Amino acid sequence: MQEFNGLKVIEEFEAITKDAETFQRETLKKILTENGSAEYLQSLGLNGRTDPESYKACVPIVTYKDLEPYIQRIAGGDTSPILTGKPIKTMSVSSGTTEGKPKLVPFSDKFIETVIQIHKTSFAFRNREFPVGINGKSLEFTYKSKKSKTKGGLDVATVTTNIATSSQYKISMKPIQSLCCSPKEVIFGPDFSQSLYCHLLCGLIFRDEIQFISSTFAHNIVLAFQTFEQVWEELCYDIRTGVLSSRITVLDVRSAMTKLMIRPNPELADLIYKKCKGLSKSWYGLIPEVFPNVKYIYGVMTGSMEHYLKKLKHYAGEVPLVSSNYGASEGWIGANIKPKLPPELVTYVVFPRIGYFEFLPVSDKTESKAVCLTQVKVGEEYEVVVTNVLGLYRYRIGDVVKVMGFHNSSPELKFVRRRNLILNINIDKNTEKDLQLAVEEAAKLLVEERLEVVDYTSLVEWSSAEAGHYVIFWELNGEGSEEVLGECCNRLDKYFADIGYVISRKVNTIGALELRIVRGGTFKKILEHFVASGGSASQFKTPRCVGPENNKVLQILNSNAVKSYFSTAYQ
Ligand code: AMP
Repeated sequence: MQEFNGLKVIEEFEAITKDAETFQRETLKKILTENGSAEYLQSLGLNGRTDPESYKACVPIVTYKDLEPYIQRIAGGDTSPILTGKPIKTMSVSSGTTEGKPKLVPFSDKFIETVIQIHKTSFAFRNREFPVGINGKSLEFTYKSKKSKTKGGLDVATVTTNIATSSQYKISMKPIQSLCCSPKEVIFGPDFSQSLYCHLLCGLIFRDEIQFISSTFAHNIVLAFQTFEQVWEELCYDIRTGVLSSRITVLDVRSAMTKLMIRPNPELADLIYKKCKGLSKSWYGLIPEVFPNVKYIYGVMTGSMEHYLKKLKHYAGEVPLVSSNYGASEGWIGANIKPKLPPELVTYVVFPRIGYFEFLPVSDKTESKAVCLTQVKVGEEYEVVVTNVLGLYRYRIGDVVKVMGFHNSSPELKFVRRRNLILNINIDKNTEKDLQLAVEEAAKLLVEERLEVVDYTSLVEWSSAEAGHYVIFWELNGEGSEEVLGECCNRLDKYFADIGYVISRKVNTIGALELRIVRGGTFKKILEHFVASGGSASQFKTPRCVGPENNKVLQILNSNAVKSYFSTAYQ
């Protein structure tokens, strides 16, 4: 590692978090000054004031829906100062996997500066604990989308693509970025499965140099090694013969990969083959066995990614798992500065210089109850409200976090869940987290059958004749017995313990919960559908509830359903 002064970055972060309040005031002032001419702010009567008190008095807390008409005008090509002082030239498209539909969000060079700050900071802390040696490489399961145009001619791509293709980002992050072992043609490849195969092949070719393995969200690392279990013999064959598999059909991906496979390498192929043969019963510890110098595995591992931790730990053996940072297409929020903490205990320290942050107590969402960064209380849950350089003012990002403590004077946040209820028929209230816990609990019954829930989602199904009921979809890694799956279904039903659900179930205003088992590979099809519709696999998060707006996903699930069980828990 050259050119990267991690100590300086850490010192700067310490100084900023020690004086979080001052930095928050300054950041707000800067944002409001630079964007004072924006129509949105003008209409709210701020009249040039930039202090937090006037700001809160004039500007309402909003959701995406409130800002959508302004964003649509920008995307339509209106270059007048709408949300920002300077015109927006690029848009990001959020994954949309948590809300059901992608959202357009402004993107700018100023935003990249904030991303660089977070990325450099977390890298500095990480590299202090797990230094990456000179010539060290990383195996990154990263997939960038192609850029397209909005109706008004603005460039649009996923935020990860916008960031990765920005020259400003490339220059600033060069010492860190140059570690990735896959060629850019693979990263930008149009076919997810082909790129995944090539990432694995690159990893094997550079196996001795690989020092960490990463993806934006941990789900993609798990998916990569599940794929590895299926294609390892083919990968070995490619290495042995020096000829790339015919499954790679994208021309520039083929030619970039061929440059890496300059000669047949039977020694390497034999070595990997032997290792895989030895592992192939359980694949426990696959990662350190195949990549002997890996120091850690890196990606978002909290929130909806918690489900994949068990499998990831299985592949990782003793290799530490390091959760990355917390952010969204609408703005970055905090960094993980304690990389040695296990993912279950990870918190994110809010970076007071990348936006102005407020916190809306979950217990009382009255606008006036929103508190600023330094006023949050340890142990309380809040919804995050951001103001940042993208022209988002007091914007509810849609996540609930819990304050676990403070680093200097900036809060350490634990990600709790998305704000929305996902399962709700009448007086019942169940969130993504409630569903996750119910699935975890019911899946304990599968252990004896040596089965796992590969992935899951849910749905509220209404029929005109009967009361609505919850449907939980599970993909398993094998076939479960009728008896155990019936029991799992009952346990899911019983685990939704909110009083509204329990009462409704007892009086049958909510029907019996249904567990639908889908074929192996169904959730990969959902990811592929998402990528085919313009999303980036890097940002994909399995939707934990499928609403009517997600018709195609529902179709994939239902056409792959193989069995269904109804709960008898309330009979
Ligand atoms: P998107 O902008 O569509 O890629 O998704 C952003 C959303 O991903 C956030 O609002 C969170 O719900 C989720 N997310 C991002 N980072 C994390 C994290 N570190 N832990 C848990 N969830 C996260």
